Amino acid sequence: MTAGGGWETVIGLETHVQLRTASKMFCGCSAAFGAPPNTNVCPVCLGLPGALPVPNEQALKLAVRAALALGCTLHPKSVFARKNYFYPDLPKGYQISQFEQPLATDGALSYLSPDRGLTTATIVRLHVEEDAGKSLHDRFPKQTAIDLNRCGVPLIEIVTGPDFRSPQEARRYLQTLKQVLEYAGISDCDMEKGSLRVDANVSVRRAGEAALGTKTEVKNINSFAYVEKALSVERDRQVALLEGGGTVAQQTLLYDSKTSGVRPQRSKEESHDYRYFPDPDLPPLVLTEEFVAQQQAQLPELPAKKRERFMTQYALGVADADVLTGDRAVADYYEAVVHAGADTKLAANWVINEVLGDAKTHQEQLRVPPGALAQLIGLVRGGTLSQQAAKRVFAEVAERGGEPRNVAEALGVVQVADSGVVARWVSEVLGAHQQEVTRYKSGEIKLLPFFVGQVMKLSGGKADPKLAQKILEEKLAA
Ligand code: ADP
Ligand code: ZN
Ligand code: MG
Repeated sequence: MTAGGGWETVIGLETHVQLRTASKMFCGCSAAFGAPPNTNVCPVCLGLPGALPVPNEQALKLAVRAALALGCTLHPKSVFARKNYFYPDLPKGYQISQFEQPLATDGALSYLSPDRGLTTATIVRLHVEEDAGKSLHDRFPKQTAIDLNRCGVPLIEIVTGPDFRSPQEARRYLQTLKQVLEYAGISDCDMEKGSLRVDANVSVRRAGEAALGTKTEVKNINSFAYVEKALSVERDRQVALLEGGGTVAQQTLLYDSKTSGVRPQRSKEESHDYRYFPDPDLPPLVLTEEFVAQQQAQLPELPAKKRERFMTQYALGVADADVLTGDRAVADYYEAVVHAGADTKLAANWVINEVLGDAKTHQEQLRVPPGALAQLIGLVRGGTLSQQAAKRVFAEVAERGGEPRNVAEALGVVQVADSGVVARWVSEVLGAHQQEVTRYKSGEIKLLPFFVGQVMKLSGGKADPKLAQKILEEKLAA
């Protein structure tokens, strides 16, 4: 994608994801969100002298599964390193992370770009680290409070190449990444609880240029919509700067969702500023082939695989398959509808439009049981219900339950396929529209849908439209 004036946008994302564990990365403290400040702490995560870290096995399992799900090369040996910096929410004075020897590298995630279709983002690295605490600015007037509950919470950091060409693409990648991590049970990816956080790097260059421009890094973005917005705002700022003859300074910016603006946080530190060195308290992390194989066996069918399977097995287009496989529960639901006998394409339309539409306004609940939806689809296909009537039945079943067939009867929307009854409606319509009948008979056959429409109107939508058309054609040919 090029911005105005032949600029190309280049984006790379660093995503921090909290692993779904009960306890922290190197101690037994609870990793749960929402405890009163500074209650989930111990000598290890507070960094008191003499306390020793012990890696959390469940966290390592989840990190390995994430690396496998993202097609990374897992390294048999990786090294925990200390990332040193001073900040009030970091009592140890360093964060345990991985630097020169990360857990995994060279992965890929394919996602559906709104600009380029199916596209692959490269995962440069995936490493394990612990979180820092949190500064709270809203507890005491003009003072900052510190909550250390997050210190030591297990994270993985997932870094992409500079692969995205628009803010919209970056957002789609993130949605896809979240899907994969949720499918595999690696994280709840809840941005509101801080269990998924994104740092977005962006630069611009003249279209066709090979070298990358100077990037800035935007932090403090707490929704995918804001990632897209923040990147657009920053991209536009850089383009304006360069077009005005200026240069982009490499720096870290904070996004303010209230003003939709970015402001400098600090000049960008370099990695050597952190004085990384291997943590002397932790031996290298060694993964056996057996351990990796066990984690591989724990992975479910992932969204991309499922999407491909849906396309071939159910003859669906990529867009429909993408929506249906975005959420594991929705994919399972769709398959249940098909297994209950519904036509695959009709089922896809119903799930995407009606079921997901209904779910949006009802706490993401799939309220109509799959068997009931299959029956409803069958009623439309067999001519018992019009599409319109079926939507009413669907709403009723969603709200109050019941068998679609019975509900349709109770609502009085079952289509009339009795030819005697329909013939009477047809006669009445033809009698009331003599002029159109004359025009039709003199060759204006495009009036047929008009007559069908009149019959539908007269019958209150209950006439079987196919039968009505057949009888109309017969009578008009007479
Ligand atoms: P840093 O050392 O500043 O953290 P990295 O090389 O580690 O930079 O890259 C961090 C993220 O920024 C990665 O996702 C990478 O793809 C992205 N990135 C690097 N250079 C650029 C650039 N010129 N424009 C946009 N994104 C970039
Ligand atoms: Zn602790
Ligand atoms: Mg970096």
